[in-house]
Amino acid sequence: MAKFQEQLKEKAKELHLKEKAIYREKCPISPKMDGTQIFFSQSKISRLICKRRINTKDRLMKFGLITDPRCPLCMRENEDINHLFFKCTVSDNLLEYACTMLQMEKPSGNVLEVLTFVMKNFAGPAMRNLASRASFNIVAYSLWKERNARIFRNNTKTFQQLTKEVKNDIYIMLSKINKMKKTRKNILWAEQMGIDPHFQAKKPPSVFLDEGL
Ligand SMILES: [Zn+2]
Repeated sequence: MAKFQEQLKEKAKELHLKEKAIYREKCPISPKMDGTQIFFSQSKISRLICKRRINTKDRLMKFGLITDPRCPLCMRENEDINHLFFKCTVSDNLLEYACTMLQMEKPSGNVLEVLTFVMKNFAGPAMRNLASRASFNIVAYSLWKERNARIFRNNTKTFQQLTKEVKNDIYIMLSKINKMKKTRKNILWAEQMGIDPHFQAKKPPSVFLDEGL
């Protein structure tokens, strides 16, 4: 029995360290990153969510490491990956806020449904799509940080503080977009986002160049 307790303690230590490591992970949209690095798949938090490898309370409960299954954001429902990042009222409202800021439709559903929506609607290397994908990272990261702060340090931010944080991160991310292809859609989008990137004209087809036009 004592050995089992020891094993549990070890496991707890391991998991706790993992959580701390994730918590300490730099914001995926830090000022040091440029626009091209803001890929959905390059963010650790999103990768962990997609692979369901994140240590939410339901996982910790299975190991017998914790006894309170409640979501620290709403304190009403139990925390699992779908609830924490998508279904919780706090998460839903924060995602709604980010989607409104970027003037995009808000997905709803579980991890798989949201991921499918994101990949269907915001696929590809266009900066508009990168920014949309990055906004999901920003929201997920803010939620994870807030959840950890509430659990580990008993620190709680108000929803207004959370939206302010998300807004700042989105502004930082948008400010990193300094080049876009010159298309009507892109010009309109940049105007809506309040950014002023350099628009690169599309190269004319080589046939015109050959004819000196
Ligand atoms: Zn909740």
